[in-house]
Parts: sequence; structure tokens; C-alpha cells
Amino acid sequence: MRKMLLALLLCLSACAPQSGGKPLRFQTGYLDLFDTVTAITGYAKSQTEFDRFAETIRGRLEELHRLYDIYHEYNGINNLCTVNKNAGIAPVAVDKDIIGLLLLAREWHGLSGGAVNVALGPVLQIWHEYRTEGKELPPMEDLRKAADLTDINDLVIDEAAGTVFLRKAGMSLDVGSVAKAYAAGLAIQAAEEIGMRSALLDTGGNIVSLGRPPDNTRGHWSIGIQDPDRVAGGERDFVDTVYIAGLSVSSSGGYHRYYVVDGQAYHHIIDPDTMMPATRYKQVAVIHETPALADLLSTALFILPYEEGAALAGQCGAEALWIDIDGSRKATDGFAKYRQW
Ligand code: AMP
Ligand code: MG
Repeated sequence: MRKMLLALLLCLSACAPQSGGKPLRFQTGYLDLFDTVTAITGYAKSQTEFDRFAETIRGRLEELHRLYDIYHEYNGINNLCTVNKNAGIAPVAVDKDIIGLLLLAREWHGLSGGAVNVALGPVLQIWHEYRTEGKELPPMEDLRKAADLTDINDLVIDEAAGTVFLRKAGMSLDVGSVAKAYAAGLAIQAAEEIGMRSALLDTGGNIVSLGRPPDNTRGHWSIGIQDPDRVAGGERDFVDTVYIAGLSVSSSGGYHRYYVVDGQAYHHIIDPDTMMPATRYKQVAVIHETPALADLLSTALFILPYEEGAALAGQCGAEALWIDIDGSRKATDGFAKYRQW
């Protein structure tokens, strides 16, 4: 069984629409992008102006969704599915938004000590198939064989030629750990370029904030960090709330996508050391000014032992909250400052 829950983080900013020339608050959302829930909250002078902002965000996200799709190809473009199909065959000419994403992801493979690897496709594909089928665990022998085709050094990015090549047949990219927030960052940038000043964009638990909400005294967006044990309609919807402006918050959690075998849940974030779902935490939330880094870090910290994760967060200027399997919580020292209204 494959299960996707609604967005992990929700905007809690409680602001009623106003009149008298002040910006009004609007919201819209989609279910058809990046296989997740997308929500836009934004301020504008009118519905017409907000619609223009939202259409720009939607348009950019659609474009990036097509480029980063590993399951389908689209007429007239080469996307990551095209790159994967050409593994071991030929370099593929791709858009600069693919080159940018892959350069960043490759750099992060090293920074995360190999925990986050966008070339882990063959292993993730096996888990994806078994999760979709929902019956049993993948044989370790199959996972081991697939792991032989996950060396990030066999991802060749030629910036000058604008091409990407996977050296060995059978290799494949999976950018699920970073693509949503990377895309959200670019989409918010596009909206800012046409005049949007104040917005929150949530792509499945990756929240990017632009500016400040103009009708709230402190000018902070309130972001609820969803309880990983939440029962729909239950009382403890949020385990924490952070107040941010111009920053991003990303969460990685086992409960986003999982299936159950013999009474045990197996989720979608795979530790490359064991090739099994990472078992240290229920959820990790990361605050960083760069959307894609918040996303990459939340996946990395979900996999890494606490000491290594905390060191990495410190090195990157990120703040983080870890929720252990037993429900206990740890946070970086600086996380507390975002709890203050
Ligand atoms: P996130 O929700 O941002 O933590 O990303 C989870 C997604 O990243 C999964 O659904 C996979 O597509 C992909 N993924 C899982 N494990 C890894 C890993 N170790 N390295 C890179 N990508 C991964
Ligand atoms: Mg991530």
C-alpha cells in the first residue's frame, strides 16, 4: 500500500482579509504537481493581482515538474526520465534548471557523507515497486545488485555543453529529496520578479516564505510542525510552531509514504549504508534561508546519526528539530529563537 499524507507543515498564519488599500490575504492549492499537495498563501491588492502571482508560481512549478519527472517524458523536452533512459548510452542536452539542481545535489552528496545521493535511483526504484505492490520486502540481493549502480561519480555533468550523462546502463537519478523545494524556490523567485512581496509556498512539507505577512504585528509567518503521530482530527496536530520571515522550513518524515509488512511500517527514505528505510527518527524539520538546502538537509539529518547531523547543520548555518522514534525531541541551540513570537 502506498500512502501519501497531506502536507506535513501547514501555514498557521491567522489573518483575516482587510480592506482600505491594504494588502489582502489569499490562498490557493493544487494536487497535481510533484505527486504532492501544493499550497500558496499570499498577499495582494486584489484577487486579480493574486491570481497573476499564483499563475506565475503555478506556471513555473509545472515547467519544473516536467523537467524533474523521472516517470514520464514530455513532447519537445529532455527531462530526467530522458536522462535515465539514456544511461550508458549518450549524454542528454538538458535545461539549465536540471543542471543547477544536479550540481547542487552532487555537492550535497559529499557534504552529507553520502547520505543523500540522487544517483540512488536503482535502489529507490525497487523500494518504490515493492511499496506500490504493498506485499513483501524487497530481497536484499536485489538491493545489493542495484547499489552497484549508484556511484555519484558516474553522474557526468558537462556545464559547458549543457549535458548530463549517466555512465553505466541501469543507473538512474531520483531527485525526490530536493526537487520540490528547489522548484518552490525558483517559483517564488519568479513571483517576486513580477511584484509579489509576501507569500508562503508549501510543496508537500517544504515551506518557502517570501517577505513578511503585512497584517501581523511581528511580521512573522507562523509555521506549525505537524505531529508525526497525528491521527486525523486528533488534538495534537502540531508538535511545535516556528515563526519565520524570508526563510524556508522543510520536514522529512517516515509517515509521508510507507507500506506495512508483517505489522511493521517501511517508509521511503532509504539509508544508503543499509539500503533499508532509515530508523533513527520519526521526523526531522530544518530551517534554512535556501529552500533546496533546507530540503536536502532534512533528508540528510533524517538518515544521519544525531552527532553527524548536528555537526552538518552547524556547518551549514541551519537549525533543526529531531523527533526520535520514541517521540523524544532534540533541537539545535539556535532552533529555540524561532519558537519566540
Ligand atoms: P524528503 O521527503 O525530502 O526527505 O525526500 C524523500 C525522497 O527522496 C524519497 O521519496 C526518495 O524519492 C528520495 N530518497 C530517499 N532516500 C534517499 C537518499 N538516501 N538519498 C537521496 N534521495 C533519497
Ligand atoms: Mg528533502
